[in-house]
Parts: sequence; C-alpha cells; structure tokens
Amino acid sequence: MIRQAKGKTPRRPPPKKPSNNQKDPVGVYCRVRPLGADDEECCIEVISNTTIQLHAPDGLKANRNGEYKETQYSFKKVFGIKTSQRELFEDVAKPLVEDLIHCKNGLLFTYGVTGSGKTHTMTGSPGQGGLLPRSLDMIFNSIGPYQAKRYVFKPDDKNGMEVQNQVDALLDRQKRDSQTTVPKTPTTRRIDPEFADMISPEEACKADGVDEDSSYSVFVSYIEIYNNYIYDLLEETPFDPIKPKPPQSKILREDQNHNMYVAGCTEVEVKSTEEAFEVFWRGQKKRRIANTQLNRESSRSHSVFIVKLAQAPLDADGDNVLQDKNQVNVSQLCLVDLAGSERTSRTRAEGSRLREAGNINQSLMTLRTCIEVLRENQMCGTNKMVPYRDSKVTHLFKNYFDGEGKVRMVVCVNPKADDYEETLLVMRFAEMTQEVEVARPVDRPICGFAAGRRQRNQAFKEELTRRLEERGGPVDGEFPTVLNQLLQSFPPLPPCEISGPNDDVTLPRLIEALEKRHKIRQMMIEEYNKTANMLKSVLQEQDSNILSKENFIQEQRGRLGEKDKMIQNQKNEIDRLEKKSKMLEYKIDILQKTTNIYEEDKRSLQQELESREQRLQRELSEKRRMESRMQGMVTDAKLKWEKECERRVNAKQLEMQNKLWVKDEKLKQLKAIVTEGKTENRQPQRPSREKDKVPPKRSASPSPVPTGPPVRPLHRRSHSAGGERWVDHKPTSNVDLDTVLKPNIPNAIKVNAPNEKALSKCDRYVLTHQEVASDGEIQTKLIKGEVFKTRGGGQSVQFTDIETLKQENPVAASRKRRSSETDPDGEPMEGDWTDVETRCSVAVEMRAGSNLGPGYQHHGYPKRRKP
Ligand code: ADP
Ligand code: MG
Repeated sequence: MIRQAKGKTPRRPPPKKPSNNQKDPVGVYCRVRPLGADDEECCIEVISNTTIQLHAPDGLKANRNGEYKETQYSFKKVFGIKTSQRELFEDVAKPLVEDLIHCKNGLLFTYGVTGSGKTHTMTGSPGQGGLLPRSLDMIFNSIGPYQAKRYVFKPDDKNGMEVQNQVDALLDRQKRDSQTTVPKTPTTRRIDPEFADMISPEEACKADGVDEDSSYSVFVSYIEIYNNYIYDLLEETPFDPIKPKPPQSKILREDQNHNMYVAGCTEVEVKSTEEAFEVFWRGQKKRRIANTQLNRESSRSHSVFIVKLAQAPLDADGDNVLQDKNQVNVSQLCLVDLAGSERTSRTRAEGSRLREAGNINQSLMTLRTCIEVLRENQMCGTNKMVPYRDSKVTHLFKNYFDGEGKVRMVVCVNPKADDYEETLLVMRFAEMTQEVEVARPVDRPICGFAAGRRQRNQAFKEELTRRLEERGGPVDGEFPTVLNQLLQSFPPLPPCEISGPNDDVTLPRLIEALEKRHKIRQMMIEEYNKTANMLKSVLQEQDSNILSKENFIQEQRGRLGEKDKMIQNQKNEIDRLEKKSKMLEYKIDILQKTTNIYEEDKRSLQQELESREQRLQRELSEKRRMESRMQGMVTDAKLKWEKECERRVNAKQLEMQNKLWVKDEKLKQLKAIVTEGKTENRQPQRPSREKDKVPPKRSASPSPVPTGPPVRPLHRRSHSAGGERWVDHKPTSNVDLDTVLKPNIPNAIKVNAPNEKALSKCDRYVLTHQEVASDGEIQTKLIKGEVFKTRGGGQSVQFTDIETLKQENPVAASRKRRSSETDPDGEPMEGDWTDVETRCSVAVEMRAGSNLGPGYQHHGYPKRRKP
C-alpha cells in the first residue's frame, strides 16, 4: 500500500487489519448511450460485449489527413444502447450491495463527458431508476425485517457508530416524533411524483446470506464537491427566502482507522427505500436551488451519495442489539456522479467560471494522476507518492485505493461525433484505470453467539401471546388497563362517619362493603395466582428448554473436548513425523555426502584401474613380444646346439670309426704277424678270432706282467707283516670296470665309507679311487695309508702311497708290445693271461716318485691266484 508521507499531524500507527494479499483490478464498465435526435454521425461501435471501436468522424479525418485511426478499447463489460437499467444494475451494482451487506466497502462512480449519461446511469428517471435507487431498494429488501429500531445505532462525530440502550433510543424517538410533522406511517405518505416509480416492485432484488441474528441500520449522506469545496446537501438550514445564506463547506478528516470522512456531515437514518430516496431527492432539490442561486453549472460538480450500513449482533436472547461498540460493523457504499470530464474550452467559460471549471478539471486531472501513479507503483514496484490530497474527490476516496474495498467505474460515452476527441481521452483513462488493483475486502469475524437467536426469540413471544389469548386474559401491554378497570369497578365505600352511639347502620354497611371488597380481592388473588401459575409453567417450560439446551451444549462441549484431544494427538503425531522426517532428511544428507565421497573414490579407483589395466595390457603385449623373441632365440639355440651335437657326434663317430679302423688294421697286422709266426711254429689254436673283430671292449685288465722293473722296497713293514689287517674302502660311486687286475686284500674289512669301528680294528687303509685320465680313459688309484691311534682315543690315517691302475689304447701299446714281443728273450711262456690282446690293452705305470713295490705286489696277488 502506498501511504502518503505528506501530512501535518503526526501519524498514529495504523490499526491492525487482517492481512490481505488478494487484490482485484478496478472493474471498469462501458455504457454507450443512444445517439440524440439531433446527432447524425456515430463514431462508436460495440464490437463485442467487452470491446468497442472508435471511428474518427468524417470531418476530423479530412482535416487531419487520416491521422486518426480506428481504435479499440476493451473493458470488463460493454453495455450497448439497448441495455436496460436493470441489466446494468445486476452486473455492476448488485455485487457491491451484496458486499455492503457483508460488511465490505464499495465505491462506484460514473465517468464521462457531460451528456454521456452519467446521471441517467446513476440516478435515472421515473420508470427508469438508476443504480442508486436500485441499490437502496436492494438493501432494504434484504435487511428490511432485521432492522434495528431507530436511534439504536447512533453515529458519533468521528465517523464511528455507537449502540444506544433501549431507553435512550426511545427518548430520541419521542423527541423526533414531537419535532417532525411528517406522518409516521409510510403508507399514508404522499410520494413526490418526481421520483415515483423509480423501481417497479417486480424488479425488486434481494441479497443472499443476510445474517438474521444481526440488527441493521442504514444511514445516508449526500455531499457535493464543487470547485474543490465540499457541501453537505442534507444539512438542515433555516431557509431565508429574502437573504439566502451561502452554504458552508465541510472539511475532510481522518478517523482512527485512517478512513477519510466529511467532518460534521449529516447522516440520516432511513428505514425504507422510499424514505432513503426521499432524503436523496431532498438533497437533489437543494443542489438544484443552490446551483440556480449561485449561478453554477451542475455538470461541473461531483455528487457523492454515501450509504452507510451499521450492523451488530443480537444479544444472547435474540431480543436486543448487543450493547458493545466493538461488535458494531459499519460498511459503506459510495455512489459518485462525477463532473463532466470535458476540457474547459468546450464550455466557453469566462472569468470566475473559468477558474471554477479549471478547478473541476483539476480534480479530474488529480484523479487521473492518482490512478496513473497507483498503476505505475503497482506495475513497476515503485513507491511514488500518490497525490490524493491534491483534490477533495481523490482525498475522500483515498482509502478505497489505499486500503481495501471494491472499486467500480462506469464509463459513459455518447457516440456522437462532437464528443469524439473527448471520448478518446475518456477511453484512455478508463483503460488505464483497469490496470490498478485494489485489495480485496476480507470477511468480518462472526460473533460468539449461537445462530438462530432472532427466530427463537420471536417464536417465544408468539407462543406467550397465544397462551395468554387462549386464557382470555390480558395481552402484553393491556395488562395495566385491565387492572385499572378492575379497581374502578370496586363498589365505592359508604360514608364511615358514625353519627352517634346509636348509629347501627354505618358500621354494618361498612362491614358489608368491606366484605364485598374482600371477596373481590380474593377473586383478584385467585386471578393473580392463576396467571402467576400460568407464567410459572411457561417459565418452567422455558427452563426445561434451557436445561435441555444446556445439556446439549454440554454434550457438544464433551465432543469438542474429544475433538480437541484428537487434534492434540494429531498434532503430536505431526510433530513426531516432522521430527522423523527431519531426522531422515539429515540422514539422507549424510548418506548423500557419503555417496558422493564413495563415488569420488569409485571414480578415482576406476581411473587407477583403467591406468593399471592399460599398463597391464602394455606389459602383456611386451611379455608376448619377449616370449616370441625368446622362443625365437630358444629355437635358434636349440637348432644351433642340435647341429653342434650332430656335428660332434659325427666327428666322434668318425674318430671312433677311424680308431676302430686303426685297431682293426693293427689287429689285422698283428694277426698277420701272429699267423705268420704260428704258421711257422704251430697251428693257430686260438678260437678267439671273431672276438678280435669286434671293437675292443674295455675289459677287465689282467695283472701286469710279473716281469717288471726292480722294486724299490719302500714298505718293508707291509712286506714283513703279512698278518696286518686292511680297511678296504670302495666308494659306492665307483664303476665296476671289467678289469683283470683287481686288488684283492685278504682279511680286509670292506667298507663304502670309512668308519671308526673298522679303522680301530685295522692298521692299514686303502681307498679305491676312480678318475678320468688325460686321454679320456678311466684310471683307478689305490690310495694307501697307515692307521694310527690318536691320543684322544680316535683313529687317523696317514697316506703313504698311491697305486695307479690304468687301461690304455692298444694302438699305442702295440708298437711297444711288438718290440717286447720281438724281444727274442721274451718268449710267451706265461700262459693264457699273457695273451697278445691283453698285453696290448693293459699297461702298468709307476707314478713318478712312487715305488712299484707294493703296487706290483698288490697286482701280484690276483696274478698268482688267477690262472
Ligand atoms: P450526464 O449526466 O453525463 O451529463 P445525462 O445522464 O444527464 O448525462 O444524460 C443526458 C441526456 O441523455 C438525458 O436526457 C438522458 O435521458 C439521456 N440519456 C443518457 N443516457 C441514456 C441512455 N442510456 N438511454 C436513453 N437516454 C439516455
Ligand atoms: Mg449529469
């Protein structure tokens, strides 16, 4: 809302209003009046029920070179020339009246150039009542039966409304009755023919949803704003026909709710449509007179008719209005007939009239400016000051735009060509006004009493009356009169002055009269008791009624309690669920965060995995390449070595074959020699010819020839000590050579590995050791030693000498043999073992530095044994 910063008085904080964010745009309607009889050219066409089109008149078109085009304007609704007053009312004013009855404010104004039909629309004429009489009629049709007695509601002088008690209201009523000469009953009233038949009864309209348990009162005010002065058209001023007093202008004030009001303005309480319209008409008359007297033009003034509706709930009994000012609701409907919107030039005004006209125009200008600023503020979110105070009209209606309420405007247009240019301006303003939004009025709070109070109260009153009538007794207000009559019907008391002691008439007469009176009194008491009993029973009935109602209320309260409990439970449940949902949200949050972390991890791991896979792939391919390379190398090497082996085998084979061949050759030669010799001496007896053909096998070597070189007696002890004992150590790794000469040591302990036990029993040790000689033949060495007892009780061996047993290729030996054979002394007399083959293949060598002695002897044993 836009509040004015301007203002001399310090501002009070605004009252607390129910917050309302809903807004409605100003409802703008367009009414096109029919062309007048003198007018020929029409420049407005109704295109649809929301749009009109303006055509520039022919003259203008010609003058301005076709600058004026056809323009269209849209409104909430467009009413064509045939629209009836009733149709217009139904659409435009009826909702405002309904709002008024439901405590909401409304503002309805007609806007247009003079003669466009503003007054016709607002006021109308007999038989063609306008929006104003129809609104009044609808109000009274709706609240008629629920109106409060006059003066129950009483306006204070600060735009507020008070509720008077019954007595004060009655006193005010009596005062009014005594002052006015107007007859009380409207039926007998003479209606001014000027405004008779404004609304025909069949067109009567009624609002829905009127609260029957409220009491209503209507107050009307009627003001005129002329030349920016406010005049009260309903003010009662003593009329002076000779020197008429100029009317006093009124000022605007702001009430405590920041609503603007005309201070000291007359507010007339009216109880019917007729009465209200009569008041209006009174104002109209006054206006007309003033205008004539002051030479004013009525089209230059704004007239504002304000209908105020006060309503307050009935008390708990449903009998009287609740005496509580805070419970009074006042709503108002302003019906405004604005001055003609045309520019000054049109009226050819001069002097002060021109100045006035300027002011009138000024107020409409201000209205336009205010609407423009409002629109700009609302559309652009700006906070420009709206110049309401620049004119009385806008200042008075400030609250409608500033606060809340429903605002409607009927734009009246005359389609005649003369008005074209003015009409264009009117249309532009009207279109712009539609863009302004006004806060929607909120519903008023309902009072705490049960509904249907008025009806129950009425039913009770009716019942009471019926019962009293049944009884034939007095009814209501007639009661005191009956009593009076009864008292008057008592027989008068006879004179009770005793004339003398002998007077015996007076006393008996008095007694008689008193007895009569007593009887009457008795009757009256009886009467009274009967009535009292009757009333009692009625009251009792009411009491029981109340009791049952109370019970009902109690029951409802119980139910309400249950419902409350349920609500509480639900609330708790909601709280719990809310907490839970918060908890879950928190959890979700955490989980989401965790998920994010995991996802990041996953991403990085995936990246790593990918890089590793790539590396693996690379390595695999590298490996495969290497494998294929190695495979190549292996096959190459294999091939090479296979070739080499083949080559060597072949060479060896060749060599062996050569050797074999050489041996064979030698053998052949030897055989030839032998055969030569034998053929000379004896017949060849040896059956071993075939054996000689096969390649010589490395056979057991026979003992060397006994005739050897002289022996160096190195080991005398062993010679002498024939009874000495040997440890014969033959490692299992030794190969059994098929030799002839084999060491044979009698009485020796044979072992595969030397052991203490064996050594302790012996004094000599021999190890048979095999090794490959330089020519590739295996030679056997007999390493001999002596066993000593050590001081520690163990044994130790001291090697003394080595005997070597070696096989030799016969090819090399044959020459030697041959030379020895050829020795003439060396006759073969040794027997079989001196066979040529054997001799060729066996040689005994003495190691350098070693004596042949033992070895010779050693070899000698088998020689001796073996034949
Ligand atoms: P304004 O108040 O705008 O100056 P009025 O309401 O006084 O105009 O209208 C001028 C004349 O036009 C009156 O005689 C009125 O009867 C007539 N008139 C206006 N509107 C209509 C209408 N819709 N139908 C018939 N006559 C109309
Ligand atoms: Mg008018």
